[in-house]
Amino acid sequence: MLNTPTRVLLVEDDNRIAGPLTEGLGRYGFAVERVGTGAGALAAAPADLVLLDLGLPDMDGIDVCRELRGAGPVPVIMLTARAGESDRVVGLELGADDYLAKPFSLRELVARIRAVLRRAYAEPVQATAPVTGAVQQLGALTVDRRTRQVRLHGRAVSLSPKEFDLLALLAEDPGAVYSRQQILDQVWEPHYFGPTKTLDVHVAAVRRKLGDPAVIETIRRVGFRLMYGSPGAEV
Ligand code: CA
Repeated sequence: MLNTPTRVLLVEDDNRIAGPLTEGLGRYGFAVERVGTGAGALAAAPADLVLLDLGLPDMDGIDVCRELRGAGPVPVIMLTARAGESDRVVGLELGADDYLAKPFSLRELVARIRAVLRRAYAEPVQATAPVTGAVQQLGALTVDRRTRQVRLHGRAVSLSPKEFDLLALLAEDPGAVYSRQQILDQVWEPHYFGPTKTLDVHVAAVRRKLGDPAVIETIRRVGFRLMYGSPGAEV
């Protein structure tokens, strides 16, 4: 499906946001249909991905998300001015694939869109696997890609979306070395050329939250690898 322009349905009532977003996403090659109401979203043609503002004039975005989800498996990224943690939890529990608090950069949004599309369409085996197939056990570490939760010795570890994506990527092949560019391409966006320091910051955060610096090994001048569950690992 990704050979044709990706159809993005933008549900946003604020013209000052919708205008630049439609134009900007168009420059990235997305075909954007914009509607300004929840009713418009539910009546729109099927899209490959929905960008959904939570604060709409006619309906709560949460209800729109629920109805969209009831109609089909389209991936949804919620956009909202409510940056509270509880909204985030509610959004993800309702099946939104990601969540972006305003203000956000176009670059950040495009990175999230690509990541969500990759998860939704480029990995059909994972997408259709039974729920248990999404849970990966690596020694004491559990990675649940469906709920995006990580547990260590049964204890929940709270990771940011990027931290989770980073850990989930390394966990795809425990013990294998992922180059810095590979990680930036997949967790951030293809051909990422921003400051790569951001990668080190996220690696440090994952190590700290897992309480073990050895969990992610730094391969100097190359990249990183996950030590949990890798051959010979004792954890
Ligand atoms: Ca709004």
